Amino acid sequence: MSLVVVQAGTLVLRQPARPLSGDEIRGKQTQDLIDQMRDTMRAASGVGLAAPQVGSSIQLIVIEDPADGTIASIPQDLRAAQERNPIPFHVLINPRLRVIDETPRLFFEGCLSLTGFKAITPRAHAVEVEALNEKAEPVHFDARGWYARILQHEIDHLNGMLYIDRMLSRSFMSELVYGAHWTNATLDDICRSLDVHNTLLRRRQD
Ligand code: ZN
Repeated sequence: MSLVVVQAGTLVLRQPARPLSGDEIRGKQTQDLIDQMRDTMRAASGVGLAAPQVGSSIQLIVIEDPADGTIASIPQDLRAAQERNPIPFHVLINPRLRVIDETPRLFFEGCLSLTGFKAITPRAHAVEVEALNEKAEPVHFDARGWYARILQHEIDHLNGMLYIDRMLSRSFMSELVYGAHWTNATLDDICRSLDVHNTLLRRRQD
């Protein structure tokens, strides 16, 4: 069963979410919510979903980037640059994130709570995450590239943050306009054309 994904402006997206206890994680309510969030993410062709996005202010996210999903339609060179590889479905609860390589990576990013828009959003290249899984067992791993981006995006949701708080704001655009005008342009072209205030790129070029 799919849930309604709330849109930007909804208070719950701006509130810090609370952690779950082991008993709560193992309880039927949370297990049902996980199933519903998985269905909702798949129905929306998303690669991540945080509980606040379905109106529940708890520290729970689901992630999945299936090989036959969006990833299949991305040109090979862009996919390589994004370091984007398929990710199996998994659940992270009460996650703690630590940046282990802060080198900023710049790519367009969207969000199911900002339907129809996207923007170039800098994210750290690699992170380390400690969390609990859906059985309340501890998990601990490193991630880089696109997976690190997804983790930063989803864990931001648990802190009341959206990508628009981190984006290069002049790159913010409608997905329709992106599809009509910019799909074949490089990020550098887009930044130049739109006069994106790309301090990160400038600093690297100096
Ligand atoms: Zn989002």
